[in-house]
Amino acid sequence: MNIENYTSYAALSKAVAEAMIAAIKNKKDALICVATGNTPIGAYQQFVLDVQATGLDISKVRFVGLDEWLNLAPENIGTCYQFLHNYLFNPLQIPQHQYKLFNGLAKDLEAECSAMNDYLDQGGPIDLLLLGIGMNGHLGFNEPGTPWHYRSHAINLSETTQVVGQQYFNTPMELKKGITLGPADLVKSKKILLMANGRHKQNIVKRLLEEAPGIDLPASLLKTLNQVHLMTDL
Ligand code: PGA
Repeated sequence: MNIENYTSYAALSKAVAEAMIAAIKNKKDALICVATGNTPIGAYQQFVLDVQATGLDISKVRFVGLDEWLNLAPENIGTCYQFLHNYLFNPLQIPQHQYKLFNGLAKDLEAECSAMNDYLDQGGPIDLLLLGIGMNGHLGFNEPGTPWHYRSHAINLSETTQVVGQQYFNTPMELKKGITLGPADLVKSKKILLMANGRHKQNIVKRLLEEAPGIDLPASLLKTLNQVHLMTDL
């Protein structure tokens, strides 16, 4: 894992946007896995501005969503569906055939996971994986304890995630379950940017740097990989 410290959130976001653009210039149909949450907002805003300013051809790029809350309608402000539409798909008018997201209302979760695995088997691996780190070290909704060989799966969310997740919604929500890409597919990504922004992430980043890799700290899975860049503004 490479460590890159930036002097500000703006500088970090700019670097992530540049990596997105570089991935697309390198491969027109790059598969980019997009995280949601507060951390990547600046990067997506910068990416949109850069694409609009340069006219970069993104008509072949493919986006895959990292995770989704289960049992929430996509219209809810805090869903990954809504987030990605607000910050990426709508501003850049990216049509539906260019993205694959988990359906948080899926009744058959096994089928939903199989469909995602098939998508990755046919169109993967991910060229560029953008990740935030959770307050408990989760990656997507791979919560502490998730076995590293898991592919896409539904999961009971940790107490921390249920509480922290409230910030994305206007009203209190029941955030008991999620669905997520699994560690087995994440580590196959050709390039992985793990972003950590803000003082509230200092403790978890310290743990990440100090602790030996283990499933209690999902992000630690990335420590041994050369294609990982931990990008912080701490
Ligand atoms: P955040 O979420 O970017 O809103 O801090 C990160 C995460 O939980 O993965």
